[in-house]
Amino acid sequence: MNVLVINCGSSSLKFQLIDTDSKDMLAKGICERIGIDGRLVYQKAGGEKEKSDKAMPTHNEAIKYVLEALQNEATGVIKSLDEIGAVGHRIVHGAENFTESVVLNDEILAKIEECNDLAPLHNPANLIGVRACQDAMPSTPMIGVFDTAFHQTMPEHAYIYGLPYEYYEDYKVRRYGFHGTSHSFVSKRVAEIVGKPVEDLKIIVCHLGNGSSICAVKNGKSVDTSMGLTPLEGLVMGTRCGDVDPAILEYLHNKKGFDVDDIMKVLNKESGVYGISKLSSDFRDLTDAKLKGDHKATLALTVFAYRVAKYIGSYVAAMNGVDVIAFTAGIGENDELVRADVMPYLGYLGIELDEEANNIRGEEVTISTKDSKVQVMVVPTNEELAIARETVNLL
Ligand code: ADP
Repeated sequence: MNVLVINCGSSSLKFQLIDTDSKDMLAKGICERIGIDGRLVYQKAGGEKEKSDKAMPTHNEAIKYVLEALQNEATGVIKSLDEIGAVGHRIVHGAENFTESVVLNDEILAKIEECNDLAPLHNPANLIGVRACQDAMPSTPMIGVFDTAFHQTMPEHAYIYGLPYEYYEDYKVRRYGFHGTSHSFVSKRVAEIVGKPVEDLKIIVCHLGNGSSICAVKNGKSVDTSMGLTPLEGLVMGTRCGDVDPAILEYLHNKKGFDVDDIMKVLNKESGVYGISKLSSDFRDLTDAKLKGDHKATLALTVFAYRVAKYIGSYVAAMNGVDVIAFTAGIGENDELVRADVMPYLGYLGIELDEEANNIRGEEVTISTKDSKVQVMVVPTNEELAIARETVNLL
């Protein structure tokens, strides 16, 4: 079946058309600057990227252009919309309302809307994308796949914060975790690679991208993860601070007169490896600078790796052991230097780096030596394929 996967942001709409039988991506692209002017970037599998300026006052026009591009006589991949069996939508926050993917209907959309306060930047945009697709393809089933759903198996002691309990009861303040589709996909793939049931394994998945999170997957279930109520907690990220002493907020307020909005902007957009290095949030830039002897870039990379290693250690404790540690996403898959920086901290687990294997990029590969007691792997994630598979499974 062909599944159209949609990942909608406030001013962008990413899409992929996937043949779930062959697992092939048929075409992909992004609509950018929706509500400003509008640009469609479209790429057929194996083809060149085509960029065209199109007026996109709303997501409705964006989806219309995507569907036209997919059916274009010269560069399209389908003849009619009947060839799209279903649409899988990435929905960022399902709170406690959703523990798994769902077929979207009016009642479900209203329940997703209830979660909007918890992800004000993401969920409303996700819903706009769903409604635009429903308008364009009224008889095609729509499925919602939640970033938070995989983590709904976390035990209470992992998701409750050390705050007054009524904040959980009244306002649902708790750890939710994100990147669930990726953590689920990678942990299942690890089990396939090592040839054991996922139910018999303790796996730590390190999803290291612009946004980064780590997940402890015990017997196929998420038992803890580093992101929290929002995707700001946990690791030091591209521009997000991750864990900090909450009292820093008051201190900055007193010193600089920052209000809540100012502080949230700093923590989300001006911190992380970018904030430390004052240079870039992109690890390629930081590595170049490190090679030229830049102290702050070197420090940012060291802080990043140290935090990853500390989280791995805490999840070994949470699961009372670990069988496999997997690196994934932009940095995890491609940055051998970051992986090499993390590995020395894992010596106590009987882990040693296979330097030759670690130099292979973007492929499934074991980067620990054969003698290592715990296997460390690189497993490329594929969130779109995971959403497409979920969509088919549900139908
Ligand atoms: P997200 O989906 O959160 O936007 P990605 O998983 O695509 O992020 O990761 C993007 C990041 O991956 C980039 O900011 C960059 O730091 C890193 N990255 C991508 N390619 C490479 C590479 N070849 N070497 C090192 N880092 C890379």
